[in-house]
Amino acid sequence: MVNYSYLFPKTCISQQWLLTCAPMLNSLFRRMLITVLLIATFFIPSSYALFVSPPKDPMPFIQAQFPDATAISDKTPTEVGGYPIWTIRNGDDILGYAFETNDIARIPAYSGEPVNMLVAIDPQGTYLIVKVLEHHEPIILAGIPESKLWAFTDQYTGLSVRDRLKVGGNNSENYVAIDGLSGATVTVMVMNVGITKATKKVAQALAIIKKPSGMIQPISTIKTELFEPANWSQLTGDGSIRQLFLSRETIDNSFFGTAAEHVNEARSDEKQDMFAEIYYTLIDIPTIGKNLFSASDYRWLTANLKPGEHLVGVFGNGYSFKGSGYVRGGIFDRIQVHQKDNAISFRDLQHERVTDIFIAGAPKFKEMSVFRIAAHHEFDPGAEWAFELLVRRQTGPVDSLFNSFRGQYDMLDKYVDTPPAIIRPPELTLTQQVWQERNTEVILLIGLMVVLLLILFFQDVLVRYPKFMHNLRHGFLVVTVVLIGWSWGGQLSIVNVFTFLQALMHDFSWDLFLLDPIIFILWCAAAVTMLLWGRAVYCGWLCPFGALQELVNVFGRFIKLPQIELPYAVHERLWAIKYLILLALFGVSLESLAAAEQLAEIEPFKTTFLLKFDREWPFVAWASLLLLSSLFNRKTFCRYLCPLGAALSVPSKLSLFQWLKRRSECGQPCKTCAKECEIQAIQPNGEINMRECHYCLDCQVTYFNEEKCPPLKKLARKKRKISDEQIIAITNTE
Ligand code: SF4
Ligand code: SF4
Repeated sequence: MVNYSYLFPKTCISQQWLLTCAPMLNSLFRRMLITVLLIATFFIPSSYALFVSPPKDPMPFIQAQFPDATAISDKTPTEVGGYPIWTIRNGDDILGYAFETNDIARIPAYSGEPVNMLVAIDPQGTYLIVKVLEHHEPIILAGIPESKLWAFTDQYTGLSVRDRLKVGGNNSENYVAIDGLSGATVTVMVMNVGITKATKKVAQALAIIKKPSGMIQPISTIKTELFEPANWSQLTGDGSIRQLFLSRETIDNSFFGTAAEHVNEARSDEKQDMFAEIYYTLIDIPTIGKNLFSASDYRWLTANLKPGEHLVGVFGNGYSFKGSGYVRGGIFDRIQVHQKDNAISFRDLQHERVTDIFIAGAPKFKEMSVFRIAAHHEFDPGAEWAFELLVRRQTGPVDSLFNSFRGQYDMLDKYVDTPPAIIRPPELTLTQQVWQERNTEVILLIGLMVVLLLILFFQDVLVRYPKFMHNLRHGFLVVTVVLIGWSWGGQLSIVNVFTFLQALMHDFSWDLFLLDPIIFILWCAAAVTMLLWGRAVYCGWLCPFGALQELVNVFGRFIKLPQIELPYAVHERLWAIKYLILLALFGVSLESLAAAEQLAEIEPFKTTFLLKFDREWPFVAWASLLLLSSLFNRKTFCRYLCPLGAALSVPSKLSLFQWLKRRSECGQPCKTCAKECEIQAIQPNGEINMRECHYCLDCQVTYFNEEKCPPLKKLARKKRKISDEQIIAITNTE
């Protein structure tokens, strides 16, 4: 170990030093404190202006998203719910809706303020864009470029309001996963809740989606083995085949008051005449299909039916349900099948023309068709559905108006097996989702805490095996760095303390803190160990940056790099720096948490663990410098600069336990432990300063070591001498 005390004037490292230099240094530090606070006060307004990005105007985003829009309404409340939205149109067609999340679902994020976003959806409920308009998230403002936030919101494009979206993890039966944003997990989770909650409310208000019921009805299956012979009147009589009958009067009335009112209008004596008579049914039900068709036709129609596909038979007279649109465009534009929110249209590829039906008693039909419902529609043969006919009237050479008419179909129970309804699992709250998602990490972390507690409880036994103790400690530190730090992002920061204090001063809610289980557990562990043993246990065992510095130092010693130790008196004065930093940051945080977060970059934590050195070079250089310094000096950052360490050490005096043993000889005359404490937490009088101690247990290894601890050596010698004397006495007696 190299002693650099020669760098200081001799008078300053003598016993006289404290008497002569201390008053001078005290006044110097007082002046430093005042200067730092003044600088901080001056810095507050300018830093606030620097770090808070101005809100963006939503209109350019809306215009860019809808280049074909001919009209964008003012922000108007929806009829149901009164949510203010913009409606974007092209002529009469609605292209989409847009709204700001803050108008509908204000969810406070990391900063305590909600992130305001613009969301645009199309009339089917598909997300078109999500853009961040305003946020005060310090974690984003400091360190993570906003472009990453935009990349996050871009993931919503193409997803549906019907999807249950969650941040992180994989797609599952109940959820669609979107990628999180490393280092800003809480922020993006809160954003996801804001987006999905606001969009669901708007979509329900606009009847794009229904409010989910508490029950889920699994899809029914057709009883393929059931067949009962039946004729036309039996099948129409019991509702197996349904009819949609439209008189000419019904059609005329439907166009009343429109430009098509008098187009092809029926004379009074024609009013009751049939306009359209359409029968419709599901023909893959054997009792229906096998009775309607010849055996060979039925086999041919159902031969290539895949699981989940169904066949709708349509038989009509009067107005053509097929029209001629499908000849040109391939789509049957006059009919649809509706079930729940699903509207199913048919193309020519899903159509089979039927030439004859063989069932007894059936009328003659002008048009007979079978349409295949594709499996992706998830059509439920057991649930009610409707057949829809669109009737069009020409009002000009190219203009026309149409009206639609629906006929209901309720499936007969005898044709299907319907499983019982199941209760929909309640949607997990955001906090529940996160804890469920990270349960493995939570269990492992709690396991680590238990190991640490066992180490502390059995410390007096473990320190008697120095080699085992050192290996155990270094192994634990590796786990702290790799798992807690790099894998789980579990690095506490002074900003957490300020956020907590701010929350206490405003609307406190545990939810915000529970959103990151690892940080929450670490804070609980830090709080409990702080009350029991002071700051030492967290800093010595659980802080990833502290552990990394220590491991770097172990490596430096292993390759025999010279170690720099400052004289105790200087070292003692330098401790004050971290308290000054803490005070300055606290002052700034009262005015602006964002600015405090920016200044808290003095902590290299985010660079090292959250962003893994993937950021601008000054931050990387700072973190690297601190780690390199650890090659030559144990935990320089912890000892002199860390505001979190300073904050944790404030209540050290309240700690309940003092399990680090001392002897009356410690300090005077013995200095062995003091020299070995690489943190220099042992004062010249032999007392341990618990505000500085990192609970590495090195001094306890020495304390119990008869080879190293001088009083113990002396005691052992004495014991040996006594037993030697006893042996001699016994021998002489004999
Ligand atoms: S002083 Fe700071 S960096 Fe060091 S161990 Fe404690 S909290 Fe971590
Ligand atoms: S050697 Fe002892 S006093 Fe020094 S840090 Fe370790 S436990 Fe604390």
